Amino acid sequence: MKLSWRRITAHTKYAFKIARPGSSVSDGGKAIERTIVSIEHDGIVGMGEAAPTPFYKQTLESVEAALAQMQPLLGEHPEDIESIVARLLEKFDGDRAAVSAIDMALHDLWGKREGKPIWQLYGYDPSRIQPTSMTIGIDDIALLPQKVSETAGFDILKIKVGMPNDVETLTELRKLAPDKKIRVDANCGWEPADLINRIRDVSPFDLELIEQPTTTNQFDALREARKSSPVPLVADEDSAKPSDVAALAGVYDGINIKLSKCGGICEARKMIALARRLNMKIMLGCMVETSLGVSAAAQIASEVDYVDLDGHLLLVDDPFTGLIFESGVVRPGNLPGLGVK
Ligand SMILES: [Mg+2]
Repeated sequence: MKLSWRRITAHTKYAFKIARPGSSVSDGGKAIERTIVSIEHDGIVGMGEAAPTPFYKQTLESVEAALAQMQPLLGEHPEDIESIVARLLEKFDGDRAAVSAIDMALHDLWGKREGKPIWQLYGYDPSRIQPTSMTIGIDDIALLPQKVSETAGFDILKIKVGMPNDVETLTELRKLAPDKKIRVDANCGWEPADLINRIRDVSPFDLELIEQPTTTNQFDALREARKSSPVPLVADEDSAKPSDVAALAGVYDGINIKLSKCGGICEARKMIALARRLNMKIMLGCMVETSLGVSAAAQIASEVDYVDLDGHLLLVDDPFTGLIFESGVVRPGNLPGLGVK
């Protein structure tokens, strides 16, 4: 197996602002850089994408420094994806965005060698995939009408909250989109001591779920707030990897899984199995990334309750094709591997 990588730049239509400082988009909020990984074996190339997040102390530099040490750990059996990923995580537990890119590339390679898409090799049924939400970034409230009008193809909107004017924003959004489902994501933005009040403030807006209301590890405040919350609470920053999940039962109603956060498809499938056993809801999200990374997530999207795979839809110059978007649903294509070119 031969590992290589290159950087690419893509651009979002709008600057992407969230409550938590140090979010992943830079350069006036519109340019994003990603590392695209290739693994070649017997003349076939599999590809994956690293979308590092500063919140997890990951940068493109740390991704590429980790990748530079991974070649000797890959071995010569690309079909042993689970053991390769386990081997990499022993040494690179903090570099899960890099491990995820390798996991994706190995899956892409596996599918291409078998001549089948990954969802088919796992026995999943893409016709069961739920519609995705579309994210509206925090911005001038005056821009909301235009932004909502651009989400006509989506039945579910996700809005970033955690600002002093959350209620005003939601009042306006509900007026503009009376029939859509609305998810909110506080990205750690609410104070634990104030949590019950903040949930009470936003509950009248008929929300589908609230993502990561507080900073991480605020389990007592969350457990207490959950008793009276009419809206399900979903962990995101708190649910990075499989070993986080068990402690979240009783604290949250569900977990948000992202490939670049957990380390790829193998780790995501472990989290799905754990959450199901604990009777927790499962959301599948992504970073702002190209449709290469989102296609990897789309392969397993039939196995989750809430889909939030809009990262590539926020881009104006996605360099990959093949991922399907129709009737509000992001669906993997029928091409072998991850299904993109
Ligand atoms: Mg989130």
